[in-house]
Amino acid sequence: MDAIVVGGGLAGLACANDLTAAGLSVRLLEAADRPGGRVRTDVVDGYRLDRGFQVLLEAYPECRARLDYEALDLKRFYAGALVRVDGAFHRFADPGTEVLDAIRSATNPVGTLADKLRAARVARELREGDPEGLLERDAPSTLELLREEGFSDRMINQFFRPFFGGVLLDRELGVSGRLFRYYFRMFADGRTSVPAEGMEAIPRQLASQLPGGSISTRTHVRSVAPSRVEIADGDTIRADFVVVAVEGPEAARLLNGEVHDPGSRGVHCLYFDAPEPPMDEGILMVNGEGRGPVNNVAVMSEVAPGYAPPDRSLISTTVVGANGLDTSDLERAVLVQMKEWFGPRVEDWRALRHYHIPHAQPLQTPEKMTTARRPVRLERGLYVCGDHRDNASLNGALASGGRAAQSALMDRGSLELAGSAA
Ligand SMILES: Cc1cc2nc3c(=O)[nH]c(=O)nc-3n(C[C@H](O)[C@H](O)[C@H](O)COP(=O)(O)OP(=O)(O)OC[C@H]3O[C@@H](n4cnc5c(N)ncnc54)[C@H](O)[C@@H]3O)c2cc1C
Repeated sequence: MDAIVVGGGLAGLACANDLTAAGLSVRLLEAADRPGGRVRTDVVDGYRLDRGFQVLLEAYPECRARLDYEALDLKRFYAGALVRVDGAFHRFADPGTEVLDAIRSATNPVGTLADKLRAARVARELREGDPEGLLERDAPSTLELLREEGFSDRMINQFFRPFFGGVLLDRELGVSGRLFRYYFRMFADGRTSVPAEGMEAIPRQLASQLPGGSISTRTHVRSVAPSRVEIADGDTIRADFVVVAVEGPEAARLLNGEVHDPGSRGVHCLYFDAPEPPMDEGILMVNGEGRGPVNNVAVMSEVAPGYAPPDRSLISTTVVGANGLDTSDLERAVLVQMKEWFGPRVEDWRALRHYHIPHAQPLQTPEKMTTARRPVRLERGLYVCGDHRDNASLNGALASGGRAAQSALMDRGSLELAGSAA
């Protein structure tokens, strides 16, 4: 065996694919019943429930390079959002895609007209040059960056807090401005979508590129060392290269603190079935009022009809952060807020499932992100990848997997060179 990859999330799958493509024999060990990691979809009574609201930004360079978008049959969101302010929804449209809507919404009460012109200027500036360069440029927190750009508090609270707070899972906007710049660019460069069959179609496609039998599921790795891993049943598996592709806190445990636990940002996602869609449009709705637990809502069946059985609607509601409420109080508070947003028809909604994901993303404060990327090579034979090495996104996870594979292949090349010189 040439290589063992521990963890079958996007990082591990990308790494295994690159090593396989370079001619190595690879075994991927995954603790869960299927690969995918944080990108999983449960099919429940004909509804497709992604484990937490998540989307593909089609402009992600690594996703473009590694995924067959056509085969994923992507279903697109409206390019913009509805912002809930003062008891009503106001449209915020991407001027690049929805020109007329953007003009019409210029004077709505979300922020000021000057804020909207500022947003257009920032988008123009961020679209210059290589997007990866935006991650390299040092930055304060997103909140400080927005203030430096001159955005009003009203605009920050009504739009940026719920929209980017939903993306970065941090309504305080304490996440590094490097990520704000990068995401802003990604939203401006391409559409936002989900695969017709749910987000898990993404890891499924990546896994299908590996030779049959390369993936062992329900295989929990207990410890790792260069060229060796021990699995939970006590067996030891050996290989020239071991790549640890598990989430940050687990990587810190397996590698005995050689990488730091990055900390965690959590999220709740509550799904509901309804006889009628509360909004007959595939658009993200965000909470610009700051009242109530729900940050964002989407009628997933309006984006991708296959997410719900015929004549039913699937509604996804997201609560960012740990939130002090216990489960049943939270569920009640979500419904109270939804009734305020959509009226008495919410009484016909049926709760489908409540996902709580304590480690949805690693912490990404400016202190944690003093560089765009963190090392993936620990020593010859031992590597680490995952979103905690790059950034918490599909793109960051894939990129880190590619970097780890490249690093192992470089070591292999120098080993072979040394071997042939001897
Ligand atoms: C709710 C939610 C919403 C998100 N929204 C978006 C979004 O809209 N857009 C976006 O770009 N990104 C989003 N993300 C972030 C993105 O999904 C992650 O950054 C990315 O999937 C992380 O991939 P990974 O391979 O680094 O880690 P993971 O997906 O966590 O994979 C790690 C794998 O290792 C396995 N594992 C762990 N320990 C062991 C062990 N001891 N032995 C064997 N296997 C083990 C796990 O089971 C898992 O499969 C979201 C994440 C969540 C949770």
